[in-house]
Amino acid sequence: MKLVFSTNNANKLKEVQEMLPTSIEILSLKDINCFDEVEETETTLEGNAKLKADYITNKFGYNCFADDTGLEVESLDGKPGVYSARFAGEPANAENNMQKLIKELQNKTNRKAQFRTAICLNLDNKQFLFEGVCKGEILTQKQGEKGFGYDPIFKPEGFTTSFAQMNSEEKNKISHRGLAVQQLVNFLKNY
Ligand code: IMP
Repeated sequence: MKLVFSTNNANKLKEVQEMLPTSIEILSLKDINCFDEVEETETTLEGNAKLKADYITNKFGYNCFADDTGLEVESLDGKPGVYSARFAGEPANAENNMQKLIKELQNKTNRKAQFRTAICLNLDNKQFLFEGVCKGEILTQKQGEKGFGYDPIFKPEGFTTSFAQMNSEEKNKISHRGLAVQQLVNFLKNY
């Protein structure tokens, strides 16, 4: 089975391909000669994942899946959520995003947050949604150097270190994206 992953992120592609049986071949956008930028214009993670998967299926006819992730902070009513990449404005900048979040939580005692990933799969003219959630809290200052995005200020529940202090194998086991991908993989294995 050939399946397009609607992303340009080489790390994400590798992660998913490694989790799948060899009978399922993952194609990148480059592999299908798609160099279009699909703007994430929806207001939910599910909406954006669907938008990116539908674009490929409708234009190229491939079975396809796409993901979208957001950091949902409880005391900020779920913000930045779907706008996580651009929280501190365009162009996307992880350092500015983290500083803005630390500032907004300065006087809040509730620092609970969760990363949430939505995956939309278009397969044989049907659509399936998968979700992965990782609960945790926002630290008052950065810890660790690894990872990307908000990793240095996110401490997952039950751990003493931030995501940025874990190696990618440790993180993938418990992360929102790792869990969502696992759901997708289990589904595909049984399909
Ligand atoms: P995307 O949908 O995977 O591109 O994620 C959107 C934004 O959420 C990214 O630009 C990051 O700011 C943030 N983000 C997503 N996943 C992670 C993660 O695993 N760690 C830290 N930040 C993340």
